[in-house]
Amino acid sequence: MANKKTFMKFGLVADLQYADIEDGYNWNRTRKRYYRSALCLLKKAMKDWKQNDVKLVLQLGDLIDGFCKRTEEPKNCLNRIVDIFDEEKWPVLHVVGNHELYNFSKDSLYKSRLFKSLPPTNKAYYTWQPCDGLKICVLNIYEISALGERDDSARYKIVKSFLDERNPNENKNDPSGLESVDRRFVRFNGAMSKQQLEWLTKELTLAEVQKQNVIVIGHNPVYSPVTDGQCLCWNYTDVLEVLSECHSSVVCYISGHSHESGYAVDLNGIHHITMPGVIEYPDSYAVGNLLEDTLVIQGRGEMFDVVCPLRFKLNC
Ligand SMILES: [Zn+2]
Repeated sequence: MANKKTFMKFGLVADLQYADIEDGYNWNRTRKRYYRSALCLLKKAMKDWKQNDVKLVLQLGDLIDGFCKRTEEPKNCLNRIVDIFDEEKWPVLHVVGNHELYNFSKDSLYKSRLFKSLPPTNKAYYTWQPCDGLKICVLNIYEISALGERDDSARYKIVKSFLDERNPNENKNDPSGLESVDRRFVRFNGAMSKQQLEWLTKELTLAEVQKQNVIVIGHNPVYSPVTDGQCLCWNYTDVLEVLSECHSSVVCYISGHSHESGYAVDLNGIHHITMPGVIEYPDSYAVGNLLEDTLVIQGRGEMFDVVCPLRFKLNC
C-alpha cells in the first residue's frame, strides 16, 4: 500500500448481535457471546474508523440479537445501537440479517431507521455509489424467508412447505441429517426473489457499461468454500450465476452470518469474504482501503487482511 494514494476508506463489521442481557455462551458453550458488550465494541471500532477517516461503514447484518424481544421493545434495543452509529456523520449501509427478523416483521424492519433513506416501497436491497468508479450493491437475502412473516400469511405457508420438503427435522433450525450444501435448508436462512436477482443483473450490467467496480454485500455467504453449508443463502446458485454472468465489474462479495471468517476467490476472480462475528470474536472488524487499482481490506482481531484487484482504475 506504500506509495499508493488511498481514494477512500470504509469500515466493515458483522454480527454485533446487541441485546441488553448478560454476556453468555454459544450453543456448544465453546465460545463466549458478547451481547451487552456490543455497544462498547462498536464504540471501539468506530474510534478506529474515525482515526482512519473512513467515509462509509458497511454493517453486514444481525446488528441486534433475537434475545432483544424477550427483554424489551425491540425498537428500543435497535435505537440504542443505531444511536452509536449516528454519533458520526458517515453513512452506514445496513444489511438485513435473520436476527433483525426475530424482532421485527419484514414490513416494519424495512420501514425502520435502518433503511430510512430508502423509498417507502423498498425491500431493503439497494445500491450506494460513494464515487464514480465504485458501486455497492446491498442484497436482502431474507426477502423470501419464514422469518418476519405472520404464520397465517400466504408467503409464510409457501416458505413452510419449501422447508418441509427439504428438511425432515421437526425443528427447522436443525440441519441434522442434511449433507454439505443441503444443510442450508434451515429456518435461519433465506433467499432472494426473482425480482431481486433481475435487479442485481441490471445493476451489474450497468456497472460494466459505466466501468464501475462493484462490491456486493449480503448477510449470508453465497460461495460454499467460504462457509459451512448451513450458512449459505437458499438460492446461492442463482446469486452465483448472476455474479458469474456479470463478473467483469464485481470485485468482491462480503458477508457475515457464519461468525467464522472465510475467504476464497472463485473462477471468475470474485473474492468471497466472510467476516467473523463480533458477538463471538470481539474487536474483529476491518478497514477497507480503496487505492487506484486495488481494494486492501485490513483486518482487526480475527479478521485477516485481503487484497482484491479492482476491475477498473478508480478516479474518485
Ligand atoms: Zn445471521
